[in-house]
Amino acid sequence: MSQGLITVSYIAAIVLFILSLGGLSNQESARRGIIYGVVGMLIAVGATILDPGVVSIPIILIAMVIGGYIGLQLAKRVAMTEMPELVAILHSLVGLAAVLVGYATFMDPNNELIGAEKTIHELEIYIGIFIGAVTFSGSVIAFGKLSAKISGSPALLPARHWLNLLVLVFTFLLGNLFLEGAVDGGGTLPLVMMTLLALVFGVHLVMAIGGADMPVVVSMLNSYSGWAASATGFMLSNDLLIVTGALVGSSGAILSYIMCRAMNRHFLSVIAGGFGSDGGGSAATFEGEVTPVDADEAAEMLATAKEVMIIPGYGMAVAQAQHAVSELTKTLRGKGVNVRFGIHPVAGRMPGHMNVLLAEAKIPYDIVFEMDEINEDFPNIDVSLIIGANDVVNPSAQDDPNSPIAGMPVMECWKGNTTIVMKRGMASGYAGVDNPLFFKENTRMLFGDAKVSLDAILKSIK
Ligand code: NDP
Repeated sequence: MSQGLITVSYIAAIVLFILSLGGLSNQESARRGIIYGVVGMLIAVGATILDPGVVSIPIILIAMVIGGYIGLQLAKRVAMTEMPELVAILHSLVGLAAVLVGYATFMDPNNELIGAEKTIHELEIYIGIFIGAVTFSGSVIAFGKLSAKISGSPALLPARHWLNLLVLVFTFLLGNLFLEGAVDGGGTLPLVMMTLLALVFGVHLVMAIGGADMPVVVSMLNSYSGWAASATGFMLSNDLLIVTGALVGSSGAILSYIMCRAMNRHFLSVIAGGFGSDGGGSAATFEGEVTPVDADEAAEMLATAKEVMIIPGYGMAVAQAQHAVSELTKTLRGKGVNVRFGIHPVAGRMPGHMNVLLAEAKIPYDIVFEMDEINEDFPNIDVSLIIGANDVVNPSAQDDPNSPIAGMPVMECWKGNTTIVMKRGMASGYAGVDNPLFFKENTRMLFGDAKVSLDAILKSIK
């Protein structure tokens, strides 16, 4: 393929990626957005393989078949609840790729650059490997935290900010040594030392963030993986990879900002880690009587209500209850009940988790609302149905300044007439804090797996 044709293909792919991102910003156009993305990626991969600089197309095709097969098998096996972990581990692969490409480019015997061009190239390699290594180890730790293989609470080393600063200073000094050494073919030792330091830095960075701040880590690593890809593009002098990486990097950064704003956190304090755990005081614990109800009673309350607000959370994903929720919504709407959904920005375990599940169950978009749109409506709500949500409906975020989730906006369902909470027991949510909502006078607890309870409610209503 001629260089001109490759450039045109790259521009077409970039335009399709931008259209794809635009499409994904809205549920109605998301499907179209995905198609743009797939077509863009096909063009991008095709044009890259046909680049005259590619040494062996068969080797690339064999690698693609093996990689594609492994990816397909893993994707088939991953349950919907394990999606966030899958995303985290995929980010780690982007980081690893940047590190490997960095070393391969550094060791490339055909590199004939000299003078300033060579120095700039070495700098690209150094920065690329640093970002890649931080992304790799950080994403592996995020994977561990999201899959509960590592404790979700922040692990805080004493003087951690100084440690981070020290790592950055050393990275800078090693960078200097690397550039000096690389002039006459050396520099391997400082490069390896920086890689090890960056790996430790990634671990430390993500270990220090925990509990309710994890959504920001997920979107932040998404952003890092974009910058790692962009750095790889610089190393390989591939414009498409530079632009695509920058698109992912900046959209991840915007998402992180949105998540922080939704949680009333400052981005920098989340990144520095341990937010909400320095306060000295300890979060309040709650004991008391809860009022349990059975499915028939819950069905009666729902069927006789005029205004129902459903608030789904991670438990709905665990129970795979979205289809039962959809069925219940249809039945209640058929009886003239006004049913709406309130979605908290960090409900579930990844951005947009609840929206994806509700869309999968074909729940109409026009009755699904963001928290900001409906939080003031709760005084007019007859019944709020909380399906496997916990942290996002925890009033201690407003009432207890020592709570790890203090200051995070929450769905104020307790202001409605009655709240029915569906969960299996009294366990806490991801942030590990007690929830006083369960003990409120107007709260009723419907214990059991969300899907089983919803089926029982449906049977009773019908
Ligand atoms: P939570 O994790 O706070 O609570 C989920 C609740 O669901 C649990 O208390 C559990 O209680 C219940 N549950 C689990 N399985 C079932 C089941 N089969 N049937 C019924 N209930 C079940 O979820 P939320 O959605 O309220 O909050 C999300 C939390 O996750 C926040 O703290 C957020 O910061 C964090 N997070 C969010 C990410 C994101 O991007 N959205 C990413 C990473 C973390 P029980 O065991 O008693 O049933």
